[in-house]
Amino acid sequence: MSAIRDRVLGLAGSCTSFRGLVEGLSSENVDPCTAMSVVAHCTAVRIASNLGASVPQGLLAPAITEPHGGSNLQNVTTSARMTPRGWVVDGVKWFVTNGLYADYFLVYLRANDEPAVALVGRNARGLKIEPMKLSAYTCSGIAKVYLRNAEARVMGKTGREAYRSTLRGIAEARVLLAALAVGLGKTVVSYAIEWAKGRGITGLQAVTHRLARAHAILKTAEGYVHTIAGLIDEGKLEDWTAASIAKYVAVEAAIEAVTAARRTMAGHAFIDEKLQSLQQHIEALEPAEGTQDIQLEIIARRLFH
Ligand SMILES: Cc1cc2nc3c(=O)[nH]c(=O)nc-3n(C[C@H](O)[C@H](O)[C@H](O)COP(=O)(O)OP(=O)(O)OC[C@H]3O[C@@H](n4cnc5c(N)ncnc54)[C@H](O)[C@@H]3O)c2cc1C
Repeated sequence: MSAIRDRVLGLAGSCTSFRGLVEGLSSENVDPCTAMSVVAHCTAVRIASNLGASVPQGLLAPAITEPHGGSNLQNVTTSARMTPRGWVVDGVKWFVTNGLYADYFLVYLRANDEPAVALVGRNARGLKIEPMKLSAYTCSGIAKVYLRNAEARVMGKTGREAYRSTLRGIAEARVLLAALAVGLGKTVVSYAIEWAKGRGITGLQAVTHRLARAHAILKTAEGYVHTIAGLIDEGKLEDWTAASIAKYVAVEAAIEAVTAARRTMAGHAFIDEKLQSLQQHIEALEPAEGTQDIQLEIIARRLFH
């Protein structure tokens, strides 16, 4: 367990160099589980930094989504209240990546009926963690987290600032998730190319053009993701809709790459475990850090405001 934690922390660094992070996440043969853990840790780190709160040492897990729905932050019901022994939190969070290994949970909730972010330590009283069975990213330690009068520390300011810092942190993380989609998409295209070579079907244009198309779309997505990462590092990204565009385009490109690989491998797609694993890891990127529907909604609002 501590090996996973050390590896993730080593790769994530301080979560400040987006160029460096995107470079690693978008590389071929990226390990999906470690990569998802890095994205989740950096989501929590970015939210805390945006709030101006000190980021604790150790692995963080962002606990935002609740059982009744994760798309709308305004529907969150987890709450914190002040007691003689300090803040305590009540609620349930689902899909908490790193939950099984994290040192701290960064919990989005309501405190005094205002949006707020609280930090709950792994050994806090009132905290219960259960593994969550997903068909992908099992090794990213995704968990259900139950908070019953759990000891917590409310971070930074509550209200509008907490809401905006969280939205901004999630938007930043979308660029990292987009990079992961590119890395997994490139991996699946290369895998299909090697399979096609072994099968002796590279003389068929139907096969080569299909994979060429997938490659071209992925390269375009990759270029966009790298450009946005550079702008973030330089403090020049003014319109955060770009993060939604990056996530939307990169995930769609990766899903297209899976379709191209599956068609290339025909019946073998149904018996090839590596392809199936890549497919599941790519498809699980669709809801993560906000569904593709939500990205389109953000883009549409910008277009029609
Ligand atoms: C691999 C993985 C890792 C994850 N890691 C984390 C994590 O670390 N921390 C965390 O808190 N969560 C995490 N999540 C949860 C993820 O953020 C949510 O799945 C996502 O926000 C969607 O919430 P939901 O699944 O509850 O779907 P819902 O919000 O219930 O949405 C259901 C459907 O309604 C649509 N919909 C809802 N509202 C709108 C709207 N306003 N406009 C258009 N369409 C809408 C959605 O697009 C979707 O099709 C992870 C999920 C996955 C798959």
